[in-house]
Amino acid sequence: MEKGILIVLSGFSGAGKGTLMKELMKTYDNYALSVSMTTRSPREGEEDGREYFFRDRKVFEEKIAQNGFIEYAEYCGNYYGTPRDYVEAKLEEGKDVILEIEIQGMRKVKAMFPKMLSLFVTPPSARELEKRLRGRGTETEEVIKKRLSRATEEAEGVEDYEYIVINDDLKTCVEEIHGIVKAAKRATLRNEGFIKQIKEELNVLSEGE
Ligand code: ADP
Ligand code: 5GP
Repeated sequence: MEKGILIVLSGFSGAGKGTLMKELMKTYDNYALSVSMTTRSPREGEEDGREYFFRDRKVFEEKIAQNGFIEYAEYCGNYYGTPRDYVEAKLEEGKDVILEIEIQGMRKVKAMFPKMLSLFVTPPSARELEKRLRGRGTETEEVIKKRLSRATEEAEGVEDYEYIVINDDLKTCVEEIHGIVKAAKRATLRNEGFIKQIKEELNVLSEGE
């Protein structure tokens, strides 16, 4: 069985990552979305274990000490981390595992898994980003300002990602993400095992002649 690939998806807060991921999971069954642990409070409508595992700093720091995260980072005053067990198990099952994490996390994951695929999601314009952040209605003005200023910093790192996807029409963007993943799975660098095997088979075949 083919092993799945590791995909990191980042994007400005309010770009639509959560919405895109829900739609992608609903449409295709080859993906597994990693659920992160965070110390931030749940937003209205968020459920523990679905969007995040919501935990206090003490529990989070214990998990750090146990080497329970693939990576973790601080973002706007809270911890966010990717639990190790789920990701490793799903990759083994052949799923394409998506980590919806920010840029510091992407850099740490890339250092460990250089063959990961990285995507950056953005809305069509900065004005649209602001509109979506406010329209979501889940954050205070202060938090919105913090996140917009963080977006300005994050924009400097966009070139560190392999692909940029523009979330204008939701369904079109989901198709685009799926198309990029499908193509990435056929890249030679992610098929070294198969390439080695066919070379060996050819050698055996030509020796037999
Ligand atoms: P993120 O997870 O990146 O912070 P969300 O998925 O919470 O962003 O989306 C932010 C807001 O933008 C939400 O209110 C969501 O409904 C809206 N949204 C997401 N995608 C689109 C889109 N393609 N067009 C218009 N609004 C969108
Ligand atoms: P939010 O509070 O809007 O859900 O997430 C804030 C930021 O943290 C987003 O950029 C999101 O991608 C990122 N994030 C979520 N989970 C993780 C994680 O496990 N690790 C890292 N490094 N970032 C994360």
